[in-house]
Amino acid sequence: MTGTWRDEARCSETDPALFMPDAGGTTAPAKRICMSCEVRTHCLDYAVDAGEQWGIWGGLGQRDLRRLIRERRAEAEAA
Ligand code: SF4
Repeated sequence: MTGTWRDEARCSETDPALFMPDAGGTTAPAKRICMSCEVRTHCLDYAVDAGEQWGIWGGLGQRDLRRLIRERRAEAEAA
């Protein structure tokens, strides 16, 4: 990979609104795109480190992302 992971982001080729659905809107199309994104791990690590809690990041929706952030923080505190 050259440049940053964002240069390889599949979402940059699509409608950004898919990744910030309105309340009650579907997250499935964005998550499908994420599953074939080569930088999914980088994206997810960034979102967790930055505490991003809105939108779709690394194939996770808000609830799963918040859970992962809590888990990683708990792991870091326990280490
Ligand atoms: S994994 Fe991240 S960078 Fe890749 S398409 Fe999904 S939101 Fe975009």
